[in-house]
Formats: sequence, structure tokens, C-alpha cells
Amino acid sequence: MFGSVLSAVILGVDAHKVMVEADISSGLPGFSIVGCTSVQGKEVQERVRTALRSAGYFLPPKRITVNLAPAALKKTGAGFDLPVAAAVLCAAGYIPPQALKDVLVLGELGLDGKVRRVSGVLPILLLAKEMKCRACIVPAWNRQEGDYTKNMKVIGIENLSQLIAFCKEGRVPEQKIYHKEKDDKEETLDFSDIRGQALAKRGALLCAAGFHNFLMTGPPGSGKTMVARRIPGILPEMTEEEKMEVIKIQSIAGILGESGAFSGKRPFRSPHHTLTLPALTGGGRIPRPGEVTLAHRGVLFLDELAEIQRTVLEALRQPLEEKRIVISRMSGDYCFPADFLFVAAMNSCPCGGYPDMNRCSCSQAQIDRYRNRISQPVLERIDLCAEVSRVEWGELYERDDSPGESRRMKEQVECARRMQRKRYEGSLIQFNSQLTGKETKKFCRMTDGAQKLLEDSYQRLRLSVRVCHRIVKVSRTCADLEGSRLIEEKHLREALFFRGVDQGDWKA
Ligand SMILES: [Zn+2]
Repeated sequence: MFGSVLSAVILGVDAHKVMVEADISSGLPGFSIVGCTSVQGKEVQERVRTALRSAGYFLPPKRITVNLAPAALKKTGAGFDLPVAAAVLCAAGYIPPQALKDVLVLGELGLDGKVRRVSGVLPILLLAKEMKCRACIVPAWNRQEGDYTKNMKVIGIENLSQLIAFCKEGRVPEQKIYHKEKDDKEETLDFSDIRGQALAKRGALLCAAGFHNFLMTGPPGSGKTMVARRIPGILPEMTEEEKMEVIKIQSIAGILGESGAFSGKRPFRSPHHTLTLPALTGGGRIPRPGEVTLAHRGVLFLDELAEIQRTVLEALRQPLEEKRIVISRMSGDYCFPADFLFVAAMNSCPCGGYPDMNRCSCSQAQIDRYRNRISQPVLERIDLCAEVSRVEWGELYERDDSPGESRRMKEQVECARRMQRKRYEGSLIQFNSQLTGKETKKFCRMTDGAQKLLEDSYQRLRLSVRVCHRIVKVSRTCADLEGSRLIEEKHLREALFFRGVDQGDWKA
């Protein structure tokens, strides 16, 4: 007797169809699963056999063979337990063969027959929609991911008995709400919480308006992290398509529905500086998304930049350049999206006191060595650099008379965004920061005065061509914030001011 059930697997960020076939024939009693690694097959078999017994279904003492097709496809995760159980039940005659026709099944089984949550449900539901499936059966915990797929019937089940009841009588179990929409109004971070720091705030505004990577230097406790955390709040709203990309990644990472997960806002990731290479880029035998991918369409904030291992920092190069990361494994190359705004912070010297010479006791050599830890290619990708100083006493206790600062900043960002959208209409460019050298010439028109200033600075400061382009791009954002068509002298001056990393003692 034969039974087959449709399922799917996630590789990278894509879902792939898998057909689960079960055959029960006379012969020496046994249960074997082929089409995956033997260890995996053994695990699935043990879980399915025990879960079926717990639910009161005994398998005939016959030869049971399960095949996960296509065999060449890598199988990951434990999501095949439920489809295997369903296919076996079908082959054993417990459920009618027509019941699961064009129905996609996904879920892990506990030994007690309960259905456990799995990750990557949303991309699989979207695949099912593409394949015109009639319905999808998923773990109850994951059911709400179906809210993001329109016109797809998604049924959450909690245990094997509910699956059987559905197949036999079409009975849909009560659909529980596992995740309430998070009301995160209270925890919205606002720039008005930060005292003083006009420079860092201005940097953050430019960073958000033109999607410029941003580095803040300054003593510990000066509020660099506070500034960084508030940047996602002033970034322009995501498009529906972008939102979907973010939710899909969170589904694959298994964090959708958990606290801190998707709320319609841009992601903010701030891994600790001790993070490892696989944690940053994505890792595992079959790679899972890393921090660069979890920050896709949002902000990746790296504090204590100089303390991060060099090899880890070097790995940022590819995502910063290509907006994606490719991880090579024996089983093939896995490509993850990684288009994020890079925000970093570091002390100005090992002790954190510099440039206040009363507090800093580091030698110039120590300071240089400290700064040189950050690799050149990463520094080259940073458009804006702001020195964040300790808050002055006067600023600390000044009256808070500007609530809603983030809202005002966001309005400015949206305005700059409109200017950019109009200017780059018909091209692939979204933000000023994406301009290439050639495009900089084409799109960044400036007044004669600004042109002259740029030329002077180029000669006087011995700027490299690359740095020069970067300054022009930032000045373009300064002009966009004012709604100015041409880049004027003052815009260029501001961009020169935020150049930072190439200035004076920075040997970049
Ligand atoms: Zn120092």
C-alpha cells in the first residue's frame, strides 16, 4: 500500500518542494527512510514510530519504506516528521488517500504525538501558494505566519489526532492565537531622550536620509549606543515587498513571533563584540542566516568595533559591497540577502579618554595601533564619522523642550527620500550612498562655489578619489535634506566635516 504527502524544505532563503512517499509491503518487518542522511532518517523514524504509538496507531508488522524525493536535495530541520507520519498513516489505510491531495504538510513530532514548532514556515507557505495547494497543515505555533500569505488556507494542528481528525472528517481544530500583535508604542525610542549630542544626532539624520554607513567615536558612556538604537526609528518606511523579505528571514531564523521580532519596523541588530564569524555571516552545515542577514533592510550596529576579531570584521566586506553574503559548503553555495545600514561605534583610544588629554594616558603609538585594528576595506565603506563627546553638565540638566524629535527627523528623512526617488527614477539607485563614481558626476550637480571648494579640499587635504566621491555623496544628502537641487558650499562643508576617519590622526 502506498501513500504520498507534499512537503518542503528551506535551503538558504528558498523553499523547495519535497514529496514524501511511504510504501508498506509484506516482508521482514522494518522501517527505513531514504532520501536523506542515514542519521536524519533514523531520527525521523524513531520520532514518528513513537509518536504514532502514543497517539494510538500501531503500524502493521510489515516492511515500511519512506522516500523523501528528490533524493539529491539536502534535507534540513525536523519538519519532515509530520509528513512522514501522514504518508505512513495513509499507506497503512488509517487515512483516506484523497484527504491530503494538494495539501502541504509540515511539522516536527514530539514522542507524545504533539506537533512542535519549526522554522521557515512562511517561505514554504508562499511556495505552496505558488504550487496552488489547497491548504497547508502546519504546527499550531506557526499558524499565524499564514497571516502574511493572502488566500492560502493554513491549518494549525497541535497533535497527531487532530491531523487524523482533519483527514477523516475534515474537522479543523480550534485555531488558537499564540502571538498577540505586539503593542510597542511604549517602547518607541526617541531622539529627544538624548541630551545634547547635536553632532551625533545630525550624523544619524544624514545616515538615515542617504543610507550612509556611520561610525561614532567617543568615550564610553557618551551615548553612542543610544544614538544607534534610535536610527531605525527615523528610517523611511519599508515597502510591502521589503517587509515581506524581512518577515521571511525572521521565519527562517525561527524568531518570528518571539519577543523582539517582527513588528513592521526595520530590524535593529546589535551583536556583542565577541561574536564569531558564523554568527555574523551565517553558519552551520546547511547555513542559517547570520547577523548580516537578520539586519537586512535595517541597521547592523557593531559597538566596540576595534575589539571585534579581525577575521570577523573582514567578513563584512562582501555584504557591504554586494548587499548579500554567499556561504560555500560542500553541498553548494548558499546566498543570503544582507542589505543593511552599517552603524558602528568605538572608543577613540584604548582607555577611552582621548581626545581629552587629562583623562587619556595612551601613547600615540597605542592609539594608532588601536585604530589600525579596523581594516581598511571596512573603513572605506564608512561615509560619515562623528566624534561623540561626553555630555556637558549644562546639557545634562537642560529642560526637555523638544519631545517628538524622532518624528521631526523622520519627516526630514522622508523629504530627502522623495528627492532621491525623483532623481533616480528609472534607475536601480535608491539612496545617495549607492552612487558609483561615474553616477556621482551625473547626479550630483553643484554650484560653482561648491565646485571650487571641492577642488581646494582635494588638493589641500590630498584626498583620494574614493574619499572625494564619498564626500560628494554625503553633501548630496545634506542638500536633499534642505530640498536643494544643487549642492551648495555649505552642504559640501558639512560633508567635509563628517569625513572624520580620514582626518588628521586617522591613517585611513
Ligand atoms: Zn587613551
